[in-house]
Amino acid sequence: STPVLEIRNLKTYFASDRGEVRAVDGVSLHVDAGETLGVVGESGSGKSVTSLSVMRLIASPPGRYADGEILFEGRDILKLDKAAMRDLRGNRLSMIFQEPMTSLNPVFTVGAQIAEAIMLHQHLPRPAAFARAIDMLRLVNIPAPERRAHEFPHQLSGGMRQRVMIAMALSCNPKLLIADEPTTALDVTIQAQILDLMRRLRAELGMAIMLITHDLGIVAEMCDRVVVMYGGRIVEEADVISLFDNPLHPYSEGLLASIPRIDEDVEQLYAIEGSVPDPADRSEGCAFAPRCRYAFERCRSETPVLSPIADGRKAACFLAGERLTRPAVEQVLS
Ligand code: SF4
Ligand code: MG
Repeated sequence: STPVLEIRNLKTYFASDRGEVRAVDGVSLHVDAGETLGVVGESGSGKSVTSLSVMRLIASPPGRYADGEILFEGRDILKLDKAAMRDLRGNRLSMIFQEPMTSLNPVFTVGAQIAEAIMLHQHLPRPAAFARAIDMLRLVNIPAPERRAHEFPHQLSGGMRQRVMIAMALSCNPKLLIADEPTTALDVTIQAQILDLMRRLRAELGMAIMLITHDLGIVAEMCDRVVVMYGGRIVEEADVISLFDNPLHPYSEGLLASIPRIDEDVEQLYAIEGSVPDPADRSEGCAFAPRCRYAFERCRSETPVLSPIADGRKAACFLAGERLTRPAVEQVLS
């Protein structure tokens, strides 16, 4: 079957005074109907720029889509005009962000905002749209939805606001929900509730989810497949079980070795030494080489490309084939 979303060789670049920054540099991925794809990486890996590209929310200038296609239900959304894109966004294609306060309008009640989205896309009269907004608040487990619908965003807790965002995003039955760090700003208990809610709604509504996160714990709980991003590229693609069982890319291995404990500061996740590559840097070689404990001479002169390694598995590392059959990497190098 046709994937809901297929990204082919996407390049999203930004002009800067240090030269062009290749935030997303040749990303290809797909999301099948009803599945949850995790997109994992540190901040600066290009995962948010990928999701904003799909929503066509990259400001231009300084940004530009330098190359590639983004096929949503078979149509290249990079070729849609503004009106067609507006029609798609918040309708068949929806997005939720990390901090709902920035995407909710403080001067309108939450019921009015959800109703507005419904009126825009479903052409319902206001009273019917408002009634549907209350249904949506009920669907996302907001207590006393009739009363809450008349409240303003600041009257709700962070967890409630994220539920409102989800209600708004789902009010038009999207085929694909893009969720960019949807629970990062929330405390652990609320985070678990929101993830539960997303799982339930995915099952009930049958949408696909592209879940952007730095947290492999969330990937384990939520996702069917995962792509790992590093330096604007995908370095590994796998089903979740295979990735956790035997990561083929040293960066994935590093991420797995440093799955956050719930009591740790979310900004301190990665025990991998070194920092993300400078996206304005044009030098040859594997972008992960400066941080890779397995790097050898070839890694510094040649850039590994994402290649099929096994059924449904791809990796961009010269050692990936050997790691597949001999997961103990120390042996590979001996
Ligand atoms: Fe490490 Fe080399 Fe693989 Fe890059 S190609 S991840 S440097 S082993
Ligand atoms: Mg981000």
